[in-house]
This record gives sequence, structure tokens and C-alpha cells, in this order.
Amino acid sequence: MTAPTDDASPFQMIEIADDADAPENGPDAAGSSAVPLREASQGGAGGAGADGGHAKVVIIGSGPAGLTAAIYAARANLAPIVLAGYVPGGQLMITSDVENYPGFPDGVQGPELMDLFRKQAERFGTRVVDVDVERVDFSERPFHVWASDTEYTADSVIVATGASALWLGLENETRLRGRGVSACATCDGFFFRGKKVAVVGGGDTALEEATFLTRFATEVRMLHRRDQFRGSKIMQDRALENPKISVSWNTEVIDVLGEQVVNGLRLRDTITGEESEEGVDGLFLAIGYKPNTDIFREQLEVDERGYLVVTDETHSRIEGVFVAGDVHDHRYRQAVTAAADGCKAAIDAERWLESQGIAEAATATAW
Ligand code: NAP
Repeated sequence: MTAPTDDASPFQMIEIADDADAPENGPDAAGSSAVPLREASQGGAGGAGADGGHAKVVIIGSGPAGLTAAIYAARANLAPIVLAGYVPGGQLMITSDVENYPGFPDGVQGPELMDLFRKQAERFGTRVVDVDVERVDFSERPFHVWASDTEYTADSVIVATGASALWLGLENETRLRGRGVSACATCDGFFFRGKKVAVVGGGDTALEEATFLTRFATEVRMLHRRDQFRGSKIMQDRALENPKISVSWNTEVIDVLGEQVVNGLRLRDTITGEESEEGVDGLFLAIGYKPNTDIFREQLEVDERGYLVVTDETHSRIEGVFVAGDVHDHRYRQAVTAAADGCKAAIDAERWLESQGIAEAATATAW
């Protein structure tokens, strides 16, 4: 999607990597993410150059899992290639304050944290290429991976492609994306200074986004389909104590109103079925995630929600292909657990490469 040129638009953003495939676990789980222009302009075939090549370890994905795997693999002298995606950095790139990542007592901004991960990986010899992987072939070794029509081959692969935001699946929600509809408060909240916005969802993401949006909006209405949140107590308290935030319980959005930009929502009471309209300038979705597994489904096992299945911590069903982070973990989904998973996958990959005589036994791995 291009940035809207309409002067009346309350904000400008572009949308990257829109995945038109039908979702498995949501009404319209198009795997897309909205990012500010500044971040998107750093994408493309950036990083170390998209000229293909062979590596002992190719890592697909550049969130905490992928980049931690890269740090460990690089320090084991495996010279990994990270295929980072056009919008590298994963979900933390669209997260504001990260207050629960150990080592940052005052918190850290998500993009800053991912920049530090990346620099650390590059310091030890990781080659990071900002391209989206389009196709893989794990049926023979070395494995084949294609990104931007360029082929990479790998003795082992670590899949760390994470998960993307879900959408409600309403026609006008799609039409008005970038014109008042967003799934990223951090990216787009700024454009709603002095305006009224709604946030859909009842988990930690919705609570966090609603709280963040009070920095800009005069009023934030949370719309939740049930009568209690599923988010953590501390985040609930923080949101509910904020005088700018109000909650409409048992409420679902059935339409997004507005021609050029969002100017309201059509709502339905999930108990009584009663319908109503509410005027808002923006709609933020925070209803969960879809794992980014479409390109692996033919070759790796996925569960009923589309997440990759692992055995023995990091192993996929194909020997030499390992899995790390939110692409398989729908339970914890934290930056720190994803990072830990990346570490495990790199150690397992190195041990497997050793067993194959591809990596030197007992390399100077400092774990
Ligand atoms: P989540 O916990 O799965 O919550 C999704 C919310 O969206 C739920 O309240 C759900 O309603 C609602 N929902 C789902 N589909 C919907 C639909 N079609 N229409 C309307 N509402 C819908 O997802 P999340 O909030 O993104 O959190 C994911 C994980 O990340 C969690 O483990 C969370 O703790 C973690 N997280 C942590 C932090 C932090 O610690 N800083 C921040 C963000 C996320 P129901 O409740 O009725 O199912």
C-alpha cells in the first residue's frame, strides 16, 4: 500500500509485505505490518548485499530469535547469513517501550534493542541481507532458499520468521488501512494527536497500545468482545487507571465508517446483538498474531493454528532445519524467550553440523 496522498488523511504510513494468502487461524489474517516511512526506506536489498551465496547456517528472520541465533552461530565461526526481511527486526520494530527485557533497568525502545542485536551479530561476522524469503527447498542438501530471485544454499537453516498482526477481516477495514486503520500504535499513534481512537482487543498488546496512544489521543476507547481482559494484571491496572482510556465491554466492530478516512465504527453488543455507531478518528487492531509459515507449509509440519511443530526443543521434521521463536511458540511469545530459543537453535545447528563433519568439532564456541 502506498502512503495516502489525501490531505485529509490523519496519518501517513506504508504497508509492507502484505500477504494475500488466506489465513488459517483468523478471519482475515493477512500477514502485514504497518511501518513508518523512515523504517521502510531502510529495507530493500540492504544490509550486506543480496548477491546470494552459500553458508553453513542460513537464518531466516531477524527478530530476537534470528539475531540471537546469528550471534551464537557467528561466535562459533559458522559465518551465518541472516535473510532479514524487507522490514527487518521483527515485531519489536513496532513496539515502543520494552520494559521487561533483562539488562535495561530503564527500559529500551524496541527498534533500538533490535539495532543492538543486529550490531552484535554483525560484529562477529554475520552477513545480514534485508530481503524477504519467497521460497525454500529443504528436500535435498545443501538446502535452497530464494529471496528476491537470488538463490542461497545452506548446510543448515534456522527458521525464525516470527508472527504478524491479525486483522478483523472487514472490507472497509482493509480499504481504510493507512487512512485511519492501523495495527501499530507505535508507528502511527503520532498522527492522532488531539483525536479520538479505538483499540480492539483484550490482551496485553491492546492494553499496551491503548496506554501508548494516550500520549497523543485525547480519548482512547477500548473495544473488547468479552467482559474481561485476558492481559496481565499490571497492564490492566495501568490502562484502567488512565483517565483517557474507557472500555466498551462485550463489543465487536462490524464495520469501519468513512469515505477517505475513518470517521466512525459500527458496533454490535455481543450479548444483546444491539447495534450502534461511534465516532472515532482511528482504529487500532490488537487481536493477536498469525505465524509467518506460509512458505514452509509444504515442507515442515505445522499445527492446527499454523505454527511450526518442533521436537526436542528446536528440531523440525527435516534434519538440519531448526526452528526458533514465535514462529513455533504461541505460548510465551516474549523477546527474551525468542532470544533464548535462537540461542538453542544455533547450538543445536552447530552440534548437528559437527556431527555431519561440516563444522569443526569443538569449535571455539564460548557458550
Ligand atoms: P492475545 O493475548 O492472543 O489477545 C488477543 C485479544 O484479541 C484477545 O483479548 C481476544 O479476545 C481478542 N481477539 C482475537 N480475535 C478477535 C477478533 N476477531 N475480534 C475481536 N477480538 C479478537 O494477543 P496479544 O495481546 O497480542 O498478546 C500475545 C502475547 O504477547 C501474550 O502472551 C502477551 O502476554 C504477550 N505480550 C506481552 C507484552 C508485554 O509484556 N509487554 C506486550 C504485548 C504482548 P478474547 O480475550 O475474547 O480471546
